[in-house]
Amino acid sequence: MALHLVKNSSAAIGVLDLQGGVHEHLDHLERLGLASRRVKQEDDFTALAGLIIPGGESTCLARLLNIFSLKEIILKEFHRGMKIWGTCAGAILLAQKVVNDQPCLGLIDMEIERNSFGSQLDSFVSEAIIEAVGDEPIPLTFIRAPKILRVGKDVKILLKINDYIAAAENENVLVTVFHPELTGCLALHRYFALKCGLKPTASIPNNIDPHWESYSWTRHSRIA
Ligand code: GLN
Repeated sequence: MALHLVKNSSAAIGVLDLQGGVHEHLDHLERLGLASRRVKQEDDFTALAGLIIPGGESTCLARLLNIFSLKEIILKEFHRGMKIWGTCAGAILLAQKVVNDQPCLGLIDMEIERNSFGSQLDSFVSEAIIEAVGDEPIPLTFIRAPKILRVGKDVKILLKINDYIAAAENENVLVTVFHPELTGCLALHRYFALKCGLKPTASIPNNIDPHWESYSWTRHSRIA
């Protein structure tokens, strides 16, 4: 956990610590040997190489961003060069267009539809190869997930499944509608670190351990 204490280092990735899967992202970054920290106040954002906006509830996250005046700070740091990865609710916050809703940060040209698979009970797991990320299948966890319906021409589709886009990126923003932090796979976190110009320890395998996915991720959390 010592790596989480690194402050104001441009070699760090921050995880927006307002609501949602914060601990799980930090855990994956730490396993890759990357400096990471929780971010929720202006100073925390200084000189971050990248920011992860976790999954959770996008309406709640958007309100908290407004209440704590963090939207302007994130936009300022983004224009300074900080890369951003949004998972699920995080992807919704990054979209320029949200079906029947207002956009929040609007940093990637795409249209996204919230809760597009149905209710929480329609959550599911799957797997797919994402060629840009690697040649091994990646486990995919969809929790009351959105669907990306279309992307603009400067946005690269990383994964398309049936009628929807599940992962995409532009030069500075990565979006996934699934949750890599809730699987035993580090491949997407490694991919984002490289996008941020950081080098995860190469010898660390992408699969955390063969039994990881048989655990409940809620019980997996290490609470002191
Ligand atoms: N359905 C949620 C929303 O609209 C997203 C769910 C998630 O992040 N797993 O914000």
